[in-house]
Amino acid sequence: MAHDRLHLAKRAIRDRLADEQGTLRKHAARRIALVYPSPYHVGMSSLGFQTIYRLLNQQPGWGCERAFLPEDPAAWRDSRLPLCTYESDQPVAHADLIALSVAYELELTGVIELLELAGLAPLARDRPPSSPLVIAGGPLTFSNPLPLGPFVDVVLLGEAEETVRSLLAAAEEESERAALLERLAAQPGIWVPVLHGDRLPPIAQADDALLPAHSQILTPHTELASMFLIEPERGCSRGCTYCVMRRSTNGGMRLVPPGRVLELVPPEARRVGLVGAAVTDHPKLGEILRGLVQSGRKVGISSLRADRLNDEIVGLLAAGGYRAITFASDGASERLRERVERKTRERHLLAATQLAAKHGMIHVKIYQMVGLPEETETDIAELVRFTRELTRISKVVLGVAPFVAKRNTPLDGTPYAGIREIDGKLAALRRGLAGTAEVRPTSARWGWVEYQLAQGGQAAGLAALSAHRAGGSFAAWQRALAEQPTQRALRVVS
Ligand code: SF4
Repeated sequence: MAHDRLHLAKRAIRDRLADEQGTLRKHAARRIALVYPSPYHVGMSSLGFQTIYRLLNQQPGWGCERAFLPEDPAAWRDSRLPLCTYESDQPVAHADLIALSVAYELELTGVIELLELAGLAPLARDRPPSSPLVIAGGPLTFSNPLPLGPFVDVVLLGEAEETVRSLLAAAEEESERAALLERLAAQPGIWVPVLHGDRLPPIAQADDALLPAHSQILTPHTELASMFLIEPERGCSRGCTYCVMRRSTNGGMRLVPPGRVLELVPPEARRVGLVGAAVTDHPKLGEILRGLVQSGRKVGISSLRADRLNDEIVGLLAAGGYRAITFASDGASERLRERVERKTRERHLLAATQLAAKHGMIHVKIYQMVGLPEETETDIAELVRFTRELTRISKVVLGVAPFVAKRNTPLDGTPYAGIREIDGKLAALRRGLAGTAEVRPTSARWGWVEYQLAQGGQAAGLAALSAHRAGGSFAAWQRALAEQPTQRALRVVS
């Protein structure tokens, strides 16, 4: 049975490889296994993962191959076959270096699972010095990578385009593990948990000359099927107090000229996704969109700001294939948005919804947070009232997530509102909008787990290991987090 499931999984890998355009196959003296702790369709939608794949393959003497968390980890576990890379079907554990890209807190169990499937001890302290160096990077490192600490040897903090090159240079020159870690710990933007403990060095910022990040591989097997991703800007100049990408984190917004964006789009790419924290704040977005749409391409944008949309931009998005439009409001009321310095106002949301309806979008999706500090029933009632107003213009889908305070933001340390409270507010939203708008909530329970990891230290990582070993249910997480002494202070209302 497990054998059949494994056979299917292997065939899926071969099919995916056959459907890819841009796969790199480099024979080099040293191998890097670039590993994503979620399945293929998620990993291949990550611009950072794709960019680092190309960059690692550009390094002389190094070749990089990918691996992903299997869709059916149990089949791999039962088969006892080691996890292998896609390109050459060689065991991940035989690489010289394993590089993990981690996007958010709940992928930590994926990291543990991957290391186990590769045949490695998940805890760095249990691996012999002869095992491959395990490094991590990715969006999570902008806020709180501490829970990753027990599992990895090195973490590249923030933008890794340059730090990863110095890491490879050091690895070439230093074969002895302890000396290599000492050397890396002395470099900016690199956290070596065994040497630094919980003291995180400042995060790195890559040279603007290395922008923009862009896709290497086109594949039909992602949600953004065969979409070429490119980053016309990096960072955000705004100051929402809950957001890691706010201006103070890594130098604000850095722009790429339209000509540079357009020249990097390969002729075979018929769908182009513009990715970045604040793409609609790019002052020349219209020029970029016109260039893409006039060349007959479909377009997507990762982060629409309601206050930046105008008739031309929404018209170009509709001409470029958009059928629904998504933007964030992030605070239930005008008062709360003001408190968290979110500049979106009701009038912006109204105008954006009217533009969406005018250009034939089938619905608008609005991201919302509940559980912000000082939020009351009156704020939730305002959200219900205003959403009902929007539904007179267009069909509305409300994506609602619990607020989780992140490190490296002004709201760092704010307690989690509590599972009961969040569930109560979600129920009030559903009741108030029944038959009017669709409410798609993120679980309050998993928001609580995310909070523990977002605010926790290395002990939270050890708790993740216990929770994973106990089956990964919410109850397993509760028990595991309660057992970690330094994590107890965070055990707020559950
Ligand atoms: S929430 Fe959006 S607009 Fe606000 S700082 Fe973050 S990326 Fe910028």
